[in-house]
Formats: sequence, C-alpha cells, structure tokens
Amino acid sequence: MKITLGTPISELPRVGNILTKRLHKLGLKKVSDLFFYYPFRYDDFSQITLIAKVQLNTTATIKARINLIATKRSPRKRIYITEALVSDQTGSLKVIWFNQPFIPRLIQPGDFVYFSGKVEHDQYGIYLNNPTYEKVKADQTHTARIVPVYSLTENLTEKQIRYLVKLVLPLAKNIPDWLPENIKKEYHLLNLSQALYQIHFPVNYQTLLKAQDRLKFDELFLIQLKTQFLRKELAQEKSPAMKFNQELTQKFVQSLPFKLTNSQKKSAWEILRDIQEKKPMNRLLEGDVGSGKTVVAAIAILNTVESGYQAALMAPTEILAQQHYKTLTSLFKKFSASPVSSASSVRSAVTANITRSTKLINNRKTTEKTILNKIASGKVNIIIGTHALIQEKVGFKNLALVIVDEQHRFGVEQRKKLKQKVQNSKFKVQGQIPHFLSMTATPIPRSLALTLYGDLDLSIINEMPVGRKKVLTKIVPPEKRQLAYQFIRDEIKSGRQVFVICPLIDPSDKLGVKAATAEYEKLKKEVFPNLKIGLLHGKLKAIEKEQAMKNFQQKKLDILVATPVVEVGIDIPNASVMMIEAAERFGLAQLHQFRGRVGRAEHQSYCFVFTESDSEKTIERLNALITAKDGFALAEKDLEFRGPGEIYGFKQSGFPELKIAKLTDYAIIKNTREAAQKLYPQLNKYPLLKQKLALFSQSIHLE
Ligand code: ADP
Ligand code: MG
Repeated sequence: MKITLGTPISELPRVGNILTKRLHKLGLKKVSDLFFYYPFRYDDFSQITLIAKVQLNTTATIKARINLIATKRSPRKRIYITEALVSDQTGSLKVIWFNQPFIPRLIQPGDFVYFSGKVEHDQYGIYLNNPTYEKVKADQTHTARIVPVYSLTENLTEKQIRYLVKLVLPLAKNIPDWLPENIKKEYHLLNLSQALYQIHFPVNYQTLLKAQDRLKFDELFLIQLKTQFLRKELAQEKSPAMKFNQELTQKFVQSLPFKLTNSQKKSAWEILRDIQEKKPMNRLLEGDVGSGKTVVAAIAILNTVESGYQAALMAPTEILAQQHYKTLTSLFKKFSASPVSSASSVRSAVTANITRSTKLINNRKTTEKTILNKIASGKVNIIIGTHALIQEKVGFKNLALVIVDEQHRFGVEQRKKLKQKVQNSKFKVQGQIPHFLSMTATPIPRSLALTLYGDLDLSIINEMPVGRKKVLTKIVPPEKRQLAYQFIRDEIKSGRQVFVICPLIDPSDKLGVKAATAEYEKLKKEVFPNLKIGLLHGKLKAIEKEQAMKNFQQKKLDILVATPVVEVGIDIPNASVMMIEAAERFGLAQLHQFRGRVGRAEHQSYCFVFTESDSEKTIERLNALITAKDGFALAEKDLEFRGPGEIYGFKQSGFPELKIAKLTDYAIIKNTREAAQKLYPQLNKYPLLKQKLALFSQSIHLE
C-alpha cells in the first residue's frame, strides 16, 4: 500500500481498531496529523555510559549484550518481575521490569540492546529499573538519542506513537511549505519538512531549537496575520469625528478634587486624539487597580457628549454599573459647565427607582421603557449599564463612543457579540460605527498584549496617584489567625471597614453561596459577635446586592463578607483591611485585584492573605504578592507560575491554544509581528499562506 499525507491512520501497519480509536482520541486521524503532533518534551538518551561508569540515582543509557533474561511471578504481590543480566566490555548489570512479562519474547540472550533508565539499588547492589529497551540497529528510535515524549491517552504507549511518527516522517517533504522563502531567509528559519523531522527526532539540541523556532514562528505568524486582517477590515469603517473642546476639558480637569497623573493625562490625550479621527478608535486602556481609569473615560465621554453624540459605558456587574453611574453623575454635576443634560443607566436607573418605592416594582417595565425611549431619542446622552446594553431592545440615537470597563470580566461570547453589535448596522449612525475603548486592570505584559490584542492600540497607566500608601500584605498561617482577627477589631474601632473574601468552595457552589454564608455565620457568631457584618454573594437579587453595598458604603456595616464579586471596580475608600480566605485558590492577578479594593484613600491599608496550604510552591507564589513591584511584575510572575491559559482564560476565550509557541517567546512575537505587517499587503502573492490563514481564521476568534 502506498501511504500518502491523507491516508487514514487506521490503514497504517500495526494499527488495529482499538489503536485507531485511541489515536482518534488524540485528534490523530490521518497521516499528516502525526507530523503536527509535537512532543511535549524530550528524554536525552544520547550519551552512552559504560557499565563500569554507571552511577546510582542517575538516568543512564547502556549498550549491552543480554546474558540471561526471565520472568517470574512475585509470590506475595502477585506481579510479574522480569530480570535480566546484561554486560558490556566493562562489566555486567542487573535489569528489572515490572508487569511486562512479554519482554523475554522480544529480547533474548545474545541480543545487543540499548537500555535507558534510572539506576537504583537494593540489598544485592545496583540495577537498572524499568528501562526503555531497543535492539541495536542502524537508526534508533527509543534509546541512544534525544527521544521525543508525547502526551498520551490511556493504554497508548510512547513506543506506539514514535513508531508511527517515524514511519510517516519521510513524507513530511511532501507538505508544501507555506512560509515565503524571503521570510525564511530573513529570520533564519528551517524549511517546514526539516523542522518537522527535527521536532520529532532531533539530531541534537541545536537543531531541535531551530525546529522549535520555525514551528513557533508559524503559529504566531498566523495570529499576527489575522490581526493585520482585523485591523485592515476595521480601517475600512468610518466613525464620527469628535471635536476636542480644550477649554471645556481643562475646566473639567480643574474641577477634579485631585491632579491627574502624567499617565492619566497621556492616556486621555491618546484617546482624545483617536476620537477626533474619522477612523474608528480601537484602544485598550490598561491600568492597575486604583490607577484612575474612570476619570480618563470621563474625559472622553465629556468630549463625545459635547460634540453632540451619545457615549455608553458598560460594566460587567450591576454593582459596578451603579457605582459608575454615581461617580459620573457627581463628576459631571460638580462641573458646572457640564453639557450633560441627563445621565442614566439602563439597569441601574431602573433598580434605583425600585429601591425607592416598592410600588414601582410593578411598573418596572414602564420605567425601563421610558429610559429606552430617552436613549432612542437622544434625551439621554450618557448610558451606563451592564451587558443589558447590547440587548436587542436598546436602540441609540447617535452612539459615537463605547467604553467597556473591566473587559476581561465579560464572557467571550458577550465580548464577541458586543464587538459585532458595535460594528453592525444597528449601531451605525449614517453608516458610521462608534469608537471603541476597553479598559482592564488585569495588567498584561506589553509583548503579551501585542499578541493577544494585536489589533488594538494600547494606552497604559503605569503610575498611581500620588500619596497612595502601599497596602501592607501579609501571608497569614493558621496559627496567626487570632492575631489577625484582633488587628481587625482594632481597625474597626478606629473607624475603618473590612472586606472578607471567600473563594468558591466546590463547583456545585458556582455563586459562592455556601462558602460565603458559612464564613458569614462563623464570623457573626464566633469571631466578631459585637460587630455589624454584611453578606454579598452571587445568588442575591440585584436589589439586595445593591443594598448590601449601600450599607457598607454608608458605614452601616463594619465587615462585608463576599464572594469574588467584589473583585472588580468597587470603590470604598474607608475600607482598610482586605482579608482573603483560602488564597491558594486564586490567581495572583485576582488576588492583586482584591487587594486593590483597599488603600484607596489616605488610611494605611492591609491585605491579609490566609492559606491553610503549606505547599512550598503555593507559599512562594503568594509571596510574589509581597515582593512584586506592581501589577505588571505580578502578571509576569503569574505567567511563570500558571501559564497564560489559566490567567487570561484562553481556553474559553477562543484564543488559539498555542501548540508550541509560548506567550513568553517575546523575540519571536516581535519578529512575527514585524513580518506580518510587512507581508500582509501582498498576501495575494502567497496563495499557500493565504489558504493556511483562511483555515486558521475559521478556528479562532481574536479580540
Ligand atoms: P480604576 O483604575 O481601578 O478603575 P478608579 O477610576 O476607580 O480606578 O479610581 C480609583 C480612585 O482614585 C477613585 O476614588 C478616584 O477618584 C481616585 N483617583 C483617580 N485619579 C486620581 C488622581 N490622579 N489622584 C488622586 N486620586 C485619584
Ligand atoms: Mg475601574
């Protein structure tokens, strides 16, 4: 039979029904799939050691002749033990395998065999434990070389995969190389077939690295090309050009109770510059928790409204939408020259009314309708809300600016929908789409951001308002818990307030009801019986949540026990202690967000990080909270500890799961970006690449 790239895997020699199923489980359906099933690591068995030189507790590869080999059954444990005695010119050595009784049929006395395994010892001396074995031949696959290790599924062995990969690898040269020659030359990249060969069976580490470079390049290059595509696509759209009202903006800035930081000024300036263009803005404003993104957004909103258009600000939670509503109302109210006739929010205005009068509950529909009418007619020109804003029923008069706060907290689907919505006809005013600004406090290292959000422009606030005191952070072991509680009592006595964050305990407790409620009960009954304690979790109704927040804001509560819902955006300047339970369950970026809830005013603030875990790794990770200079440094650390998938939720995000490249491959990211920018305008000249990009595009969604 002639094997080709498209031959089904089931037709390969030694592949029966069962093996086919197992290979399918790994996504291996046809020959060419095998090429792209990269090893996840390698065993270096390339050094051959003489038996006389073998050392205890190392991994060794020996080349030896089999003298004796036999399998027996251990009487007590009922397992099969295969023992062999092997020798080379310098000595002999015992070799042991467990539960592989078939081995004596495969290798027999007189055979020359390579063995690679761990050298251990028992009362009779040293032996080779469970080594990989392979008869000496012209070209080794499993030993005496750098050996690929693949991730497997149950009942599949490395040997099986290696055998198949090696069998088909000569066909790799039939895969057309989609990278243009000039790019390969410029970036010193291997040909595709060479790279594929070397990634599986490298002749040495140097070529392995070259192979990895080439294949990483491929992956990242496609992402960057896609990014270019999105950019160009957006560039064909038009947005209304806002007027920059310098006098008004200056007045507004002067009306603020503080001076803007340089970063805030710079970011505001970048945004204002963008929205004066007819080209749609597509910008990400990145700034640590508490760095003051809201007021930067307000400046953009102000100029939009002043130009006669509407602006929308969207938050991931109702609590935050409420807060923004209040903040903006007061920012613009204090500012007498404000052109803002009425600010409102789809949701928050509705709930605000309900709490004022229960009678209105029945009228909820009417109220909502009134607001919707005002939005549609343009009577309301600043619209703040949750993702309810992208619902079908909300129609705008002339929306020119959309701001998404804490955008990482919006689900992917929501984000996608939002983006589509913003760019589809419904939001269009005379064929123009609104400018788009997203904000996030999850600090993303710049190079990572360029990959992830390559089609966005980036503004970064990298300094804190002056006078902010650093939050003192302590990792609290169980034996110091009582001390921490006493400290909290003292803080509350001096007028401060305290957050207690509980993680979601088990998957069935998605909204954290159980965990937070239990902690609330415990604190109320046992620990702080004299203090006023409130509870906030995901199961509460919107009104109840708002009430809890309000009580806390108005100091009717000393302590607020909450699930991670408070993570985003909440601003309670009087709170000075953030206490986090079972901190090991959170990522560093998230912990940092929690911590950002305190230290927002002049009071010295504290973050107590509780953990029952005594795993060294956990403690080391948590300690980064203390040592890292800022959110960016922490983000880098988090990236190291947990990998990007978990932190930025790529798995759910539709961001392509990188097979070989890492988001920390900064140099390659930079190169692919540069190459993509240069090549994209001439993509038509490279049909293979174009085809590859089309396939790739179907499988992903980028920001
Ligand atoms: P975030 O970037 O986390 O959204 P906010 O916009 O909520 O931060 O701002 C945090 C707090 O800092 C708010 O109370 C805000 O009024 C205040 N603030 C913003 N900018 C400054 C500044 N330049 N100086 C002092 N305080 C500021
Ligand atoms: Mg914020």
